[in-house]
Amino acid sequence: MAARSWTMTFLGTSSGGGPTARRQCTSTALTFGITATWLVDCAEGTTSQLRKTRLPSIRPKDVRRIFITHMHQDHVMGIIPLMRHVSRSAARAKPTAPYLHLYGPKGLREFVRMNLQITYTDLKMQYAVHELLTPSDFPTSCHPGALHPNEADGEDIVCDDKDSHRWLDFMNNGHIRVDAAMIQHRVPCLGYVFTERSRVGRPGAEATEGNSDSFEEIMWTDNPSMMEDRPGRKVVVLGDTSDPSNIVPLASDADVLVHEATIAHIPNHILRSTVLKKKNLGPEGELNMDNVLTEASDDAVEPSVLQAARTESDGEADEAADASKAEDDANKKAADFAHSLGHSTPQMAGAFAQRIGAKQLYLNHLGTPFDTPYSPHYAKYRGPGILEVERQATEAWKGTVDEKAVKAVAAHDGLVWNVD
Ligand SMILES: [Zn+2]
Ligand SMILES: [Zn+2]
Repeated sequence: MAARSWTMTFLGTSSGGGPTARRQCTSTALTFGITATWLVDCAEGTTSQLRKTRLPSIRPKDVRRIFITHMHQDHVMGIIPLMRHVSRSAARAKPTAPYLHLYGPKGLREFVRMNLQITYTDLKMQYAVHELLTPSDFPTSCHPGALHPNEADGEDIVCDDKDSHRWLDFMNNGHIRVDAAMIQHRVPCLGYVFTERSRVGRPGAEATEGNSDSFEEIMWTDNPSMMEDRPGRKVVVLGDTSDPSNIVPLASDADVLVHEATIAHIPNHILRSTVLKKKNLGPEGELNMDNVLTEASDDAVEPSVLQAARTESDGEADEAADASKAEDDANKKAADFAHSLGHSTPQMAGAFAQRIGAKQLYLNHLGTPFDTPYSPHYAKYRGPGILEVERQATEAWKGTVDEKAVKAVAAHDGLVWNVD
C-alpha cells in the first residue's frame, strides 16, 4: 500500500427509494493508512457492505468515526447494528476513552440513545455523539442522568457565527481536519470537507503506516523530515441537496467531490434502448414518468408535489415537435422537480463541481431505476441510462486535470477510489 494511503469506498449509493437488489442506501467509507476507517452516513446494510469489501483495511471493527449528513432514514438506519460490531473490537482493546465518535446534526444524539435503550443494546465500549448545532438548536442534554450507560459526554458544537451555518475545523486529529456546512435540503443537512495537513519535507523517503491504538487511529506514523513535499488532499462529501452553495468557501479546489444526483431526465430514445425498458414503459409502450423522473425518496414528499411534477412532465417530451427543445424543457422540469424535493440532477452536480474547481466528481444517491452491476468487472455492461447520467454531469462540469478532460463517474456499491 502506498505511503499515506487514503481510499474512499462507496458502500451504498441508492437514494431513499432503495435499497434495491444492487444498491444499498447511502454510506461512504474513508480509510486512512491500514486501519482507520471513517464513514459518511450509515444506512441500513452498512455493516454487511463493510464485510463485502475486499480491502483488509475496511472492516466494521475499524470504524472509529461516523459523520452523519442528515437524519433521513436512508442515511442513519445502520448505525446501531454497526455499533455492536465496533463494540466487539473495543472489548478486546479495552479503551479508556470513547472508542467510537459520531458527528451530525441535532437529533443524532437522541436517535442513538433511544435506539440503544429501546433495543436493550449493551455495548462493550463507550461512545460519544457530537452535534453540530445552529444557534436556534437546543442542545440535547449530556447530563449524567440523561446519558445511555455506554454514552460519554458529547460536544455541542455551535456554528462559527450565527449566520454562516458553517463549522470550521470542528474535528482535527493532526492528520485530517474536518469542516462542515449546512446545505439546502428538505431537512437540516450537512456537507463535510476532509482536508489533509500539508507536508513539507525532504524528498526520497516514504511514510510508514501504523496501527490503531486503543482509540486514536494512527493513520500515518511518518517523520515530516523524511517526506516529500505534498499539499494536503481535500475530499468533499455532500449530503442530499438542491443547493450546496453554503459550502463553497470550504470546498474550493477539492480533489474529489461526492455529490448526489437523485433525479434525472433520460431521453426517450435512450430509455427505449435500455434495460430500464420494462420499468419505464407501460403495456402500450407509453412512458411511465414515475420512473423517468425518479425518486421515491424519503417518504416525506407531499404526494401533491410529486403528482404535480409528474403530470406537468407527462407527455410533453413525446409531443414536442422540436426534439432539442423538448429535451431542454424536460431537463428543466427535472431540475425543477429536483429542487422541489431538495435534490439534484446530474447537471446540477456537474455545475457545482465546476464552481468549486473539483478535480474529480462522483455521483451518488442515485434514483432507484439507475441500476449498476455490483462488480467493476461488469462495468462494460452498464446500461445506457447510467451512462447518460454520467454524460449529463460531465457536460455541465467540463472537468479537467492537467489539461486532460475527465469524466464524472456514477458510483456503484463497492466502488473504490484512491485519493491521489
Ligand atoms: Zn437521502
Ligand atoms: Zn434526505
